[in-house]
Amino acid sequence: MKLASQTQSTDGHQIPVVERPWAEAEAPKASGADLPPYDRIKAMILSKAIPPDTKLNIDKLARELGVSQTPVREALQRLEGDKLVVGKKPRGLWTTPLLGERELRDLIEVRLLMEPWSARSAATDRATNPGREMLAEIERFVELGELKHQGYALASHDVAFHDMIFHAVGNTFLHDAFRQLHAHLHLFRLYPADLDGTHTIEEHKAIAEAISRADPQAAEEAMRAHLFAAMDRFSLGLRHDDTLSSLGTVRSQVLGPPPSATGAVSSHKETS
Ligand SMILES: [Zn+2]
Repeated sequence: MKLASQTQSTDGHQIPVVERPWAEAEAPKASGADLPPYDRIKAMILSKAIPPDTKLNIDKLARELGVSQTPVREALQRLEGDKLVVGKKPRGLWTTPLLGERELRDLIEVRLLMEPWSARSAATDRATNPGREMLAEIERFVELGELKHQGYALASHDVAFHDMIFHAVGNTFLHDAFRQLHAHLHLFRLYPADLDGTHTIEEHKAIAEAISRADPQAAEEAMRAHLFAAMDRFSLGLRHDDTLSSLGTVRSQVLGPPPSATGAVSSHKETS
């Protein structure tokens, strides 16, 4: 994948999914100086305070954050592992560019290989499946009220939600493969058209309810529909088009194999 080739520095750092990597960024203290340089620089990149594909000046960052260069270098090394920063020759660290349409489609296609199967696998034992936990996570997000619109609340919820499924499946190779995609970091750098999560929540409910009642077929189909709909939303973000008028539940009902190369990203227009 192109994403993987952006940096050689896969140092094993993974999205700390359960801890919700954006949790600090959601809180009022997000801009406070008490956060570690890693979190502050990550927030700057995700919010585009530091734009994509921009050369990073370590000395300037250190001065802005009021710290020495060493913790800034350490933070940038971790962010390289997150694929938010990349080293370029001959020297210099840059923020990575945003995903293009092709990379967005490639990323969603990989998720389509992993996640419908995972949702099906998790929808087994009513007594032990993660359905109740997933519904509770949805409830937690809904209860944020207006805070849903702030920071990375939606991304944080989405990371936690999808991780519950992989955790329940219990295949560490699969779970690691998903984490290595850093899917959420990259998707939510695009402008999500569904910023308050209205559509996402409905789709997540369908997945969680199917898993909760141990209905593997419905869980698989609901996950596939969610990923197609998410691709539509992020595609709008890619075009800086925030209109939601063409996004409804119709597209969410679309099931089937991954769309063709030509129809995948533009098909939201057909659903209006
Ligand atoms: Zn989701």
